[in-house]
Amino acid sequence: MNATRLVCRSCGAEYPLGQFYHCVKCDGILEVHYDYARAFRANPIANPDVSKPGIWKYADLLPIRDAANMVSLGEGDTPLIPVPRLADLWRCGVDLRIKAESLNPSGSFKDRPTAVGVAAAKENGFDRVVLSSSGNASASAAAYAARAGMDCVVFVPEATDPNKVAQAQAYGARVFKVKGGFPNSYAAALECAQKHGMANVTSTFLYPYTMEGDKTPAYELYAQMRGRTPDYILVPISAGPLLVGIFKGFEEMHAAGLVRRLPAMIGVQARACEPITRAFENGDEKVAIWREKVETSAGGISDPLVGYPEDGTLTLRTIRRSNGMAVSLDEAEILEALAAVEKKVGLYCEPSGAIAAGAVRKLWDQGRLAQDSVAVAVVTGHGFKFSGRSAEPPIQLEDLGDLASKL
Ligand SMILES: *Cc1c(COP(=O)(O)O)cnc(C)c1O
Ligand SMILES: [Zn+2]
Repeated sequence: MNATRLVCRSCGAEYPLGQFYHCVKCDGILEVHYDYARAFRANPIANPDVSKPGIWKYADLLPIRDAANMVSLGEGDTPLIPVPRLADLWRCGVDLRIKAESLNPSGSFKDRPTAVGVAAAKENGFDRVVLSSSGNASASAAAYAARAGMDCVVFVPEATDPNKVAQAQAYGARVFKVKGGFPNSYAAALECAQKHGMANVTSTFLYPYTMEGDKTPAYELYAQMRGRTPDYILVPISAGPLLVGIFKGFEEMHAAGLVRRLPAMIGVQARACEPITRAFENGDEKVAIWREKVETSAGGISDPLVGYPEDGTLTLRTIRRSNGMAVSLDEAEILEALAAVEKKVGLYCEPSGAIAAGAVRKLWDQGRLAQDSVAVAVVTGHGFKFSGRSAEPPIQLEDLGDLASKL
C-alpha cells in the first residue's frame, strides 16, 4: 500500500491510517496522503491491474492494505458516451460527453466512495457500518456491506425516495427514517456510530477514505480520452466529494506528468438548495448553511450542509482553484435536462443525475463555455430509483385496426 498517513487540511496535523474522522485538534477535514514516487513507479493509471475487480485495479492509489478487504461489485469502468445530438439539440458548440455513473452496480457513482469506505471499515476492524444519506449512498453502502458480510444501519431523511429505501432494505440494511431533513439523519448516524461501535461511512468528507474512491473517474477518463484532459468536467454536487475527488485524481496525474493540464471543475446544484453556488456567485470565502426551504426533484443533491458547511467550503475552494464555476438550475431546467438525456441519449436517470448535462446548455447560452471545448457531464444516478416521475398512461388500443390512427 502506498497511502502513508492522514493529514488535516486545516492545521496540518498528521495521523496514522486508522479509524479517524475529523482532526482531533481542530475538527478540520482529514485527507489521505501517499508516497507518490512509489505509487507511480509502475504507472498504475496507464497500466491498471485488471486482474483486480472494479476500482481496485487502481489499488496502488487507494488507501487499503489487505487485498482481502477490497470489497467489490464491479464498480467503475463506466462508459464515456459522446452525445453530439444532445449538443445539437441545445445548439451548444462544445464536444459534449457523458460519463454514465448511473451504470454502477447499485445505480449511482456512490459505489466508488462506499467501496473504499466499507473496505476501510473492514480493515479498521469493524463488522458494522452506519451512515446517513439522502438515498443513493445508503443503497450503495447496504450493497457493499452485504458483499463484505457486514451489517449496515441507515438513517434517511423523511423525504427520501421510497425506491431508494426499498433498495437498501433489499440488501439487508436496517433503515431508520428520521424526522426532518438531512441534518437530523446526519446527527443520528454520528451518535449511532459513537455509541454502538460502528464505522460511519457517510459519504461527505467525514470519513477520509470514502473520497479516495471518488478519484477513480479521473483515472478512467485518462484512458477514455487517451491522456487528453477535458476542458470542463461538470458534476452534480451536494457537499461535493465527487467533484473534489475527481480533481484530486487529475492533480495526481498532473504531478506524475501523465496529463499536461487540469480540468476546470463545474459544480452544479438545484436552485432550491444551492449553498455552494450562492457563495461562488457572491464571491464569498466560505459556504454558509442553507436555511431556505428545500423542495426539488433533485433530492440526491439537496443537502443544506447543516453541521458541516466547511465541506462546502472545501468544494468551493477546489472549484476556484481549478478555474471552474458553480451554477444552479431551476426546477423547469432540471426536468428539461432529464427529458433530453433520456430521449436524446437513451440513459434513464434521476433528476440529480441529469442536472450536469443541463448545466452545459445553460452555461453555453450564457457564453461561459469556450467554442469547441471538450465538456464531460457526469450523470450520477439511475432512473430506476426515482419514483417522482409522472408517467403517461400507455395508449389504450381496442383492436389492431386502430393502430394506424394512433401511431
Ligand atoms: C450523492 C449524489 C450526488 C452528489 O454527490 P456529492 O459527492 O455527495 O456531492 C449527485 N448525484 C447523485 C445522484 C447523488 O446520489
Ligand atoms: Zn487540524
